[in-house]
Amino acid sequence: MTKLNDYDKAVETYEPVLGLETHIELDTNTKMFCGCSTTFGAEPNTQTCPVCLALPGALPVANKAAVEATIKIGLALNCHIAEWTRFARKNYFYPDMPKNFQTSQYEEPLCENGYVDVVVEGKEYRIEIERVHLEEDTGKTLHVGGATGRIHGATESLVDYNRAGIPLVEIVTRPVPGTGALAPEVARAYTAELRDIVRALGVSDVRMEQGSLRCDVNLSLNLPGQPWGTRTETKNVNSLRSVERAVRYEVRRQSALLDAGERIFQETRHFQEATGETRAGRSKEEATDYRYFPEPDLAVMEPSREWVERLRSELPEPPRKRRERLQAEWSLGDKEMQSVVNADAIELIEATVAAGTTPSGAVKWWLGELSRRANESGEELAALAITPAQVAQLQGMVDDGRLNDKLARQVIDGVIAGEGDPADVAAKRGLEVVSDTGALEAAVEEAIAANPAVADKIRGGTHAAAGVLIGAVMKATKGQADAGTVRQIILDKLS
Ligand SMILES: [Zn+2]
Repeated sequence: MTKLNDYDKAVETYEPVLGLETHIELDTNTKMFCGCSTTFGAEPNTQTCPVCLALPGALPVANKAAVEATIKIGLALNCHIAEWTRFARKNYFYPDMPKNFQTSQYEEPLCENGYVDVVVEGKEYRIEIERVHLEEDTGKTLHVGGATGRIHGATESLVDYNRAGIPLVEIVTRPVPGTGALAPEVARAYTAELRDIVRALGVSDVRMEQGSLRCDVNLSLNLPGQPWGTRTETKNVNSLRSVERAVRYEVRRQSALLDAGERIFQETRHFQEATGETRAGRSKEEATDYRYFPEPDLAVMEPSREWVERLRSELPEPPRKRRERLQAEWSLGDKEMQSVVNADAIELIEATVAAGTTPSGAVKWWLGELSRRANESGEELAALAITPAQVAQLQGMVDDGRLNDKLARQVIDGVIAGEGDPADVAAKRGLEVVSDTGALEAAVEEAIAANPAVADKIRGGTHAAAGVLIGAVMKATKGQADAGTVRQIILDKLS
């Protein structure tokens, strides 16, 4: 049983130092060093050729689109783009790597010395980028016959080389000290920002759950004023939430070991999605020496300054600027916008608004009911079985007075259970607003009588003030009334 400290106590005593290594699969049409297709989901080993299978005599040629995409990522991360750069062989044996080396970059990466600024709880943190380099992905091993899909218990293992040679960009930060108790949130904010930057560039779909963005989280602890501790590296953390959980877990685990006078081993660990734990993998202290050397089969690259400047001029609106623009367009306060960002709901809200809903309607559902459900089930918001178009339809029915919020929540149950679009669910489940106009008129009269000053405002033309009266009527009718109808009755009576 792994001993864990209480998180808050751990960060009172120790200072965490973060480091993040991110791999991003590029969306190029062809592989990094050959013309094979990169389309996902093809029959195993149908997208291979002598180059990506490493047959004798095959010669690689670098993919220009991948180099351009990497330069764009470097520029968007404020990096210097090398004037002279080359590939290197990283030698190790693994069955899903046909060449017995990975073509990567070593001492001469394409991009260096950049930074990303992230804001967490109102404070800005600068995450320095050490390097951005280009390499190729490995194939995939499938273990067949066991219950778990792991090698243990499997009767045979199969290798699919379709992924071997797909361009991969690795982005490495410098160590990030000074985050204190907010280390998990800073790690998450950085990963989210990086994902948004790359998504805006349109060079990868950066889907963590599908593995096109994979994150390794480094963490060490030290006492204040002491040198940095030994770090562990937690591999392939596949969601923003898991990045946060992995950091939190390592802080709790490492601090318990240090408190007990034990040492931290420099090792690779694996994040367990189901339990939120990290488990020891191979120890780095006996790690292989990769015997890097310059790749003799590929020419060096000297990106011209004209090329780099042209790519710089093509960069899209940075995500941070975009957030500021959307915040203004959606008329959200800083706190509300921060909640949208924390819930990872920008794209969802943008798509819901694009599908025809007001920003406030879209924000209401994604930050309210749907966030609550995502939290309960431990899912990312985007993973919920409801689309922005369905949320827009739902809010449309609320706007039309066919549903009130309470009924709408029951409709969401049906949509998430796979019963179809909101209109279908409402029809099948018989969910519709029952409005007895006589009772509603009486409730409105009561609300007007109880709030004469508000009524005067509405008479004076301030229709927004009707919200107060609507609220009173909804309360009186225990939420069964349709807000749109109530609003209409109020306005009819007062204008
Ligand atoms: Zn190929």
